[in-house]
Amino acid sequence: MKKLHHPDLKKMSTLKMGGRAGAIYYPEQESHLEKLSGIIGSDQRCMFLGRGSNVLFTDNTADLVLIKWHGNLQPEISAREGEHILVNVDAGFPLPRLLGWSASRGLSGLEGLAGIPGSVGGAVVMNAGSHGVDFCSLLSRVWIWTPAAGLQCLQPEEFSHGYREFKINTLPGEFLVTAALISLTPSSPEVVQENIKKFYLRKKKVQPVLAATAGCVFKNPPNGESAGRLLDQAGFRGKKSGQTAFSTKHANFLVNLGNGTSLQALALIQEAREKVKQVSGHELQLEIRII
Ligand SMILES: Cc1cc2nc3c(=O)[nH]c(=O)nc-3n(C[C@H](O)[C@H](O)[C@H](O)COP(=O)(O)OP(=O)(O)OC[C@H]3O[C@@H](n4cnc5c(N)ncnc54)[C@H](O)[C@@H]3O)c2cc1C
Repeated sequence: MKKLHHPDLKKMSTLKMGGRAGAIYYPEQESHLEKLSGIIGSDQRCMFLGRGSNVLFTDNTADLVLIKWHGNLQPEISAREGEHILVNVDAGFPLPRLLGWSASRGLSGLEGLAGIPGSVGGAVVMNAGSHGVDFCSLLSRVWIWTPAAGLQCLQPEEFSHGYREFKINTLPGEFLVTAALISLTPSSPEVVQENIKKFYLRKKKVQPVLAATAGCVFKNPPNGESAGRLLDQAGFRGKKSGQTAFSTKHANFLVNLGNGTSLQALALIQEAREKVKQVSGHELQLEIRII
């Protein structure tokens, strides 16, 4: 199994911040997972990483061990179930490429997720969603691995999901997602492609999709309020600390303007939380993972 010592976390996350981790392992087959048991069982701090598009790495990561599932096989149509086409996809496969793959085969269901830069594994764990589509609603099966139980295939009744959340009903704690079976519906390549383009352009208009960012910093509060609107109201749109800022395009996106640091990002996040609480009474919860 491939392993790198002291990887630079700026290169492992779309926000391009952080120091160096202790090591990163790249398992890509079942036999590699067995070797990971010893690492995860030790006292080391471990994290499963996807494409790093919802992560803020701090500079305090010298002891961190990253595990990045490196299986990246092409998606495959595995069966037809009534009106649905079931597609098997590796957790390491990039979501944007999965959208391209499904468009070229005229398979519909994922179009609303256009512009989300994560991996399939990250889309499961975060239940990535936009434009009324959430990834976990398309799940027919999911394969996970834990050191205690090994590799398991879970049926829909064994997991649950909500807003930016995916849980395994019988298993508390961390697990590695290695693959998913998703249910899509037949359409035509032109229609799917056209809808992907439409959703992408809609997203690009209101979000800094081409900037160094990690998506939304905060979750929307449960009452239907938008975190972006609350941040706007509290004066955080465009607010800067050094080379880090809340985007001028969308107040809930933190952007790295060049040499932004995690200290600047953490200070802005803290300040925003306090000010939003003071102005609106809302206690914003993080969507981004701070490591
Ligand atoms: C420009 C931009 C736009 C975005 N727009 C949206 C949006 O519209 N909607 C939305 O929901 N999100 C959005 N995001 C956030 C992000 O892309 C999603 O949350 C995505 O699903 C994260 O996937 P990832 O592979 O990058 O995960 P990472 O950022 O690497 O990890 C996120 C979490 O998932 C866990 N994880 C990742 N892979 C695995 C795995 N294989 N097994 C177990 N755990 C794993 C990590 O441990 C971590 O807790 C956006 C981000 C950016 C940069």
